Amino acid sequence: MNARKPIIAGNWKMYKTVTESVTAARRLRELLASPPPVEVIVAPPFVSIAPVADAFQGSGLQVAGQNLFWETEGAFTGEVSGDMLVSAGCSHVIVGHSERRHLFGETDAHVHKKVGAALACGLVPIMCVGETDAERDQEQTFSVLDKQMGNGLHSLTAAQVEGLVIAYEPVWAIGTGNTATDSQAQEVHAFLRAWIGKKFGDALANTIRILYGGSVKPDNVRGLMAMPDIDGALVGGASLDPTSFEKLVCF
Ligand code: PEP
Repeated sequence: MNARKPIIAGNWKMYKTVTESVTAARRLRELLASPPPVEVIVAPPFVSIAPVADAFQGSGLQVAGQNLFWETEGAFTGEVSGDMLVSAGCSHVIVGHSERRHLFGETDAHVHKKVGAALACGLVPIMCVGETDAERDQEQTFSVLDKQMGNGLHSLTAAQVEGLVIAYEPVWAIGTGNTATDSQAQEVHAFLRAWIGKKFGDALANTIRILYGGSVKPDNVRGLMAMPDIDGALVGGASLDPTSFEKLVCF
């Protein structure tokens, strides 16, 4: 393992009522009474953020939003601002998840505004990038990632990017059970780290954390985490059950 502190983040997507979220959060807290040296983050649905943050109070477990809007307030029915996430107890926010990009039409330009809005209110953005199956087949993986990174981080300074986490989530691996192999994921993580190095310098490239996401499970997490450029995981399905998530955290 490298010197960067790993992050294991669970994305609960649109699963769990408030009651179910609190039950899972309390169980996770019990299971992680002596947590390993890993940052643990859970991203519940919006309505469960405050009660989950309450259940985690004093435990070191952190809470993320699954999305935010870039404006600070206004007539934007159905949207949630960064300050609202902070006030509900979030430290992080997922930005540009592939489900947002592909099901809700989020573009790189939206992702860029969301990253800026998150940073402006002190949230750590977890910016997701990743290619589709067709793009990988057409050998466009690196050009797609280059574009997503360039547009998403456009005009940001190294000091701002320091406050960011990147998540490589190949779209073909999300929720499909088809995880990238350790070496496929490592190849892309190395590319992303080199990309950061070229744009923002080696010091930042060496410290920024790049998570892998896409069908990570207790039985494949170790191999992925052994790769030199993989600093953690963003986990969907396998984060819903506290017992399974605890196994991921204690890989
Ligand atoms: C995700 O939602 O970010 C994700 C990676 O999902 P899954 O682990 O279910 O593939």
